[in-house]
Amino acid sequence: MNDNPNKSIHCSVTSCMHHCQNVDYCSLDAIKVGTHEKNPTQDQCTDCLSFSLKGGCC
Ligand code: SF4
Repeated sequence: MNDNPNKSIHCSVTSCMHHCQNVDYCSLDAIKVGTHEKNPTQDQCTDCLSFSLKGGCC
């Protein structure tokens, strides 16, 4: 479990291996954010590119 929350990065994606499961923060020092859209216009258009599936193999 990640027990070193970065209080500057709020996150609720509990399926990510970097999420601090007991509190809604990321454990990384920094993250990268990107988009899957050509012209992003809403928050739904953005993605955390530092996401990594918890329990994933790669
Ligand atoms: S890497 Fe991204 S998705 Fe994963 S806990 Fe951190 S902010 Fe959330």
